Amino acid sequence: MEPMTLDAAAAAKKAEKIAYENNKLHKRLCRLVGQAIGDFNMIEDGDKVMVCLSGGKDSYGLLDILLTLRERAPIHFDIVAVNLDQKQPNFPEHVLPDYLAKIGVPFHIENQDTYSIVKRLIPEGKTTCSLCSRLRRGILYRVADELGATKIALGHHRDDILETFFLNMFFGSKLKGMPPKLQSDDGRHVVIRPLAYVKEIDMERYAQVKQFPIIPCDLCGSQENLQRKQIKAMLREWEKKHPGRVENIFSSLSTVVPSHLMDRDLFGFADLKAEGIASKDGDIAFDEEPCAPPSSVIRFGATPQDPDEQD
Ligand code: SF4
Repeated sequence: MEPMTLDAAAAAKKAEKIAYENNKLHKRLCRLVGQAIGDFNMIEDGDKVMVCLSGGKDSYGLLDILLTLRERAPIHFDIVAVNLDQKQPNFPEHVLPDYLAKIGVPFHIENQDTYSIVKRLIPEGKTTCSLCSRLRRGILYRVADELGATKIALGHHRDDILETFFLNMFFGSKLKGMPPKLQSDDGRHVVIRPLAYVKEIDMERYAQVKQFPIIPCDLCGSQENLQRKQIKAMLREWEKKHPGRVENIFSSLSTVVPSHLMDRDLFGFADLKAEGIASKDGDIAFDEEPCAPPSSVIRFGATPQDPDEQD
């Protein structure tokens, strides 16, 4: 066998490193998605999970990881991929059916021209997203019924959850995020977000690694929500300048202390009496609140991190 040239050896080493990193990413995604599913009991034996596929990186990644996890799961559940073709101009309608047929996943494409409805009803220059998503939601719920789906899986990730949390706080005066699992607003379905613990940056990298045939999301010509854009930039800046801050905010969403907030529906302030029993959660009057020990997302579940996954 010919000895390798220096260039070839360097290229082989680089390829090996890339393969190692990609494998690590895949393991991390599977672990975090498995953990979120377990923590919130998102998928149960016999479920039929309808994965909503938009053609964006997140929904492709969600489907891909769920397919991997299904192979390893001790329970049986079915997956059906659903795309709503809203008839936006230049929507490449063959891309998703080709992809889904290639990977052998049962799928349904729902053709509904919501684009024309939105264009007809919303005056030029006004934002169309709210009506568009309302129409989409109604259609997807109907399709879930028709397909007999027991869960509707959406591709929202950790960053979507955090952005929604800050949007609600900054512009809606509410401590309210985007839940990993919730009943739909019509009360008929259970919506799940298995990517709840996954960072957007990991979904971006995963989409590149897997070379998903991404369909651009701006075909309708609508602008991305400016407020969400600003929040996203704020979080990215914090992530860069203050490592750990965003992680801690995210962890805090699952460690809520109602007695230390001000929602009278969540805590019975009116009936509060001194019980004569010392409590570490009691008020410490003038002392400064000690910082809680830093926590990380691993706290949510018992799935151990594979040493191969360490960054
Ligand atoms: S960006 Fe376009 S397709 Fe997406 S919700 Fe807004 S109007 Fe609908």
